[in-house]
Amino acid sequence: MLVKTILNRCQKFKSFVYGDVKFSKFGGRDCLDINVRPRKGSAAICSGCHEPAPGYDQASEPRRFEFVPMWGFSVFFLYHMRRVECAACGVKVEEVPWGSGKRQLTKTYMQFLASWARMLSWKEVAMRFSTSWEKVFNSVDYIVQWGLEHRCLGGVTAIGVDEILWHKGHKYLTLVYQINAGLVRLLWIGQNRCEATFSQFFDMMGAERSKLIEFVCSDMWRPYLKVIRERIGQAVHVLDRYHIVARLNKALDVVRAVEHRKMKSDGYEPILTKARWLLLKRPENLTDTQEVKLRELLKYNLQSLRAYLLKEEFQTLWSYVSAGWAGRFMDRWTTRVMRSKIEPMKKEALTIRRHKDLILNWFRAKKALSSGVVEGMNNKAKLTMRKSYGFRFHRSAEIALYHSLGKLPEPPITHRFC
Ligand SMILES: [Zn+2]
Repeated sequence: MLVKTILNRCQKFKSFVYGDVKFSKFGGRDCLDINVRPRKGSAAICSGCHEPAPGYDQASEPRRFEFVPMWGFSVFFLYHMRRVECAACGVKVEEVPWGSGKRQLTKTYMQFLASWARMLSWKEVAMRFSTSWEKVFNSVDYIVQWGLEHRCLGGVTAIGVDEILWHKGHKYLTLVYQINAGLVRLLWIGQNRCEATFSQFFDMMGAERSKLIEFVCSDMWRPYLKVIRERIGQAVHVLDRYHIVARLNKALDVVRAVEHRKMKSDGYEPILTKARWLLLKRPENLTDTQEVKLRELLKYNLQSLRAYLLKEEFQTLWSYVSAGWAGRFMDRWTTRVMRSKIEPMKKEALTIRRHKDLILNWFRAKKALSSGVVEGMNNKAKLTMRKSYGFRFHRSAEIALYHSLGKLPEPPITHRFC
C-alpha cells in the first residue's frame, strides 16, 4: 500500500493531491517527505479574503509543513506555495488548507500536540515527540486562538473573579470565570489586579453582554469591588466565603505566633508548639490524637484559643437559611470579637462588618453560587501554573490557562491519529 493511500484516507484535500513520498533527512533526523501539488484546474485561495483568485506565480523552493510523525519518522508536506493576484487584495500568498499563516506545523499536527499537552507538561510532550518546547507552545497557541475566536460568550449570567500569583510569587494575574450551573470555565485573563485590569474584561464582553450578568463573586480586594460597582451595578455581588474564612485563619495564625513567642520569652512551657495545624484545621478533620491535644489546650485561657473558638463559631454563619438571621448572627459575632481585645481578630471583624451586605448576598443568592466553584477553578489554575511548562513569559502562562480551563471549542477533526 502506498503512503498516499493512507493519507487520502485520513487527510484528503479537495484541491490538492499527494505526489511522491521519499525518505529524507531533516534537522539530523530521518523523515518522510511527501510532495503535495494543486489538483488540476483548481484555483488558489487568496489568504486575504479567502476567495479563489487567479494565479500570479509560484515559489521555486518548496515550503516544509510538519505533519503527524509516523512509526518514528518525522513527516513533512513539501509544497511550492503559489501567489495570487486578487482583485480585492492585490498580490497575496495563497491559503492552504493544512497550514495556518506562517506556522511551520500543519494544523493537524498542532491539534495532535495540543491534545497531548492536556495530559503532559509541554516539556514532556516535546520530549515524547522529539520536537521543541517552542513547537508545542505554538501548537497550543494555535488551538487556543482558534478556540477563542470560535467560542460563544452568550448566556454568561454568573461570573467569579480571583487572582493568582505567578512569576515566583512576584506578579498577579486576574482570572475571570463563568460560574453558571451548567457551564464553569475560564473566561478571561488579565495582567495585574488593578482596576484597569478588571475593567478590560468588561470591555472584552461589551456593554450588551455585561448587562446580562446577574451574579458576581469576588473577594474583598478593593479594586475589584469598585469595578463591579461601576461596570455591573445591576448584578448581585456575593463576597467569597472561602476568602473570608482564609482571612480569619490568617488572623488566628498571627495571634498564635505572637502568643507563642511571648510565652517562650516569659519562660512558660511552650504549649503552643505544633498547635498551628490543630487550630487551623476544621474540628471534623482532626485525628484522634489531635483532638485530645486540642481539648488539653482548651483548658488554658489563651488568646489563641479564644481566637480559635471565635473563628469556629463564625463558621455557623453558613448554615443560616435567611439573610436576615444570618445578619443578626454577624452583628452578635462581630460585637463579641470587638470586646475580645484580640487585635488581629478585631481588624477582621471590622472588615466583615464593613462588607456585611455583600456577605449576606451569599444567602440572597440562595447559596446556589457557591464560591467554592471559583476556589476550585483557582486551585486548578495554580496547578496548571505549577506543572513544568517552562513559563518564562506571561503569554505562555496565559495560553496554558486558557487551554486547560477555558473549555474552548476545537477545530473539527476528520481523523484521530491516536
Ligand atoms: Zn483576496
